[in-house]
Amino acid sequence: MSDTQAIELDAVIVGSGMAGLYMTKRLNDRGMKIQTIEAGSGVGGAWYWNRYPGCRADLPIIEYSFSFSKELEQEWDWSEVMAGQPEIEKYLNHTADRFNLRKDIKLNTKVTDAIYDEAANIWTVTTDQGDVYKAKYCIMATGCLNEPNYPGFKNADTFKGDIYHTAQWPREGVDLTGKRVAIIGCGSSGVQAIPQIAKQAKELIAFQRSPVYTFPAKNAPMNPDFLAQAKVDYADIREQQRNNEMGICNYRGPKKPKDPNAAPKAKPSKKIMDITPEQRKQEIADFGVNVLTLYVDTYYNAEANEIACTLYREYLQEFIGNDQKADALSPKNYPLHCKRPVIDTEYYSAFKQDNVSIVDLRDNAVEEVTATGLKTQNGEYEFDVLVYATGFDAMTGTIKRLNIRGRDNVLLSDTWKDGPRMYMGLQSVGFPNFFTVTGPGSPSVVSNVLHSIEQHVEWIDNCIAHLVDNNVATIEPDLEAQDAWVEHVNKAAEGTMMTAPTCNSWYLGTNVEGKPRGFMPYLAGTKTYREECNDVVSKGYEGFTLKTA
Ligand code: NAP
Repeated sequence: MSDTQAIELDAVIVGSGMAGLYMTKRLNDRGMKIQTIEAGSGVGGAWYWNRYPGCRADLPIIEYSFSFSKELEQEWDWSEVMAGQPEIEKYLNHTADRFNLRKDIKLNTKVTDAIYDEAANIWTVTTDQGDVYKAKYCIMATGCLNEPNYPGFKNADTFKGDIYHTAQWPREGVDLTGKRVAIIGCGSSGVQAIPQIAKQAKELIAFQRSPVYTFPAKNAPMNPDFLAQAKVDYADIREQQRNNEMGICNYRGPKKPKDPNAAPKAKPSKKIMDITPEQRKQEIADFGVNVLTLYVDTYYNAEANEIACTLYREYLQEFIGNDQKADALSPKNYPLHCKRPVIDTEYYSAFKQDNVSIVDLRDNAVEEVTATGLKTQNGEYEFDVLVYATGFDAMTGTIKRLNIRGRDNVLLSDTWKDGPRMYMGLQSVGFPNFFTVTGPGSPSVVSNVLHSIEQHVEWIDNCIAHLVDNNVATIEPDLEAQDAWVEHVNKAAEGTMMTAPTCNSWYLGTNVEGKPRGFMPYLAGTKTYREECNDVVSKGYEGFTLKTA
């Protein structure tokens, strides 16, 4: 398409997940001329793509839902405490309809290039459908977990059976009844999928390289009285979320008046190092294994952490009962709290089924894929269906794969080759008027991500309004501010289990071969971060350069 056929806009938004939908609404409300571009055939982003059996929210849905509309809060009824993927996808479709967003969203379309013309101060965005858009602002709402990660196994394409990735599960579903299924990986996706697949499959073999620490999710049907009360309390719930560093307030329903005669309620200890071995066991017996996540010292003290890990393995051994399975399922060699927390529904129970087995890959790496299955160092396995639950090239994968060129034709992926560099997770030097929602260097995935999405969308929207109102042509971070922010982000993660030398995770990028190791999200908390963002604005966009037209 020639330039004469290009469509002129104020802004292009890439993606129509939670971030893209809300960004679309905000810029729409401002009367801006926008186009949102979506690769999927429906809206919903992560909740559109990840439709594997068992996929559900891992936070209470009351708190993992949009807060921007009181009407939406009141009219939507959730059926479970941690809603499943179909319900969340429905909710996001309802949101798109409710706010008339579909008219601005082009589905089944992938952005291929976004190129900045400095002289014209315009981004030219092109798609695989031949569209050309020219816009002042380009906003990546592509999410942190979008680009599926496939392990580069030898002969991966020789397998004759069906192959699926949890993050690209077919829309029409997959019938695994009577099938011999293999699943690789046990992060949140694998842990959610395994119990559901185990119910259908004739045989399920779980191949695991880093068995997880996982804790019961405690999902349940939504109590209608609880939901009704939450609707009354929403304003307070949101306020509490804003005052919490994770964007979570753990709403428990209305506060009951205190009975002055009631015995004081027992509470678990704050630090595992403060209690004796007997007390530790007693607290697990009293409060359940989830208590191990409440001891604050396990997050930064290696000795405290190892005590918790040992107790976890003992609990697992006792629960599973089968020595081979318990041993293969036991997380070892990396600390608790290194990876993103995993919660589950009947995960370990599934391994008690006779049709479910586990292959420990720790001293038995995959050698190759064969026509009928997998070959590891110590054995060969046959199955009909291969499921990759192997995660994502997280946080940078999607953006780095696009041809995004800023000033002087510089490729964004080149400037990020040693790790992403952003100021406040919002913008990168050399890419004026180019924003990323929940980009690297912001709390994003180490918080209630929807809470962080809303904060970012509102910041970007207000920023654009400021630029327009003040006749500002461009906003771009200063190099010193960006360098200082990257340093600040690194410091915030230092000394935690998330950056321990024995830790590997998608937060660090070490799950993808060749990706530089570095902690990508910002760990100081959403409340702190919001204050920092507001502070930047109150100081006249400190750390950014704003150039008037
Ligand atoms: P993940 O946490 O990165 O887990 C991937 C799994 O695949 C790991 O067990 C990993 O082992 C394994 N793996 C990768 N490459 C392998 C290889 N070459 N050989 C053997 N094993 C390999 O990915 P995920 O489970 O998709 O979860 C990613 C994130 O998505 C979660 O942390 C969460 O933030 C989000 N998520 C959220 C929900 C929810 O909200 N309900 C559900 C699903 C996902 P290693 O650990 O050894 O690399």
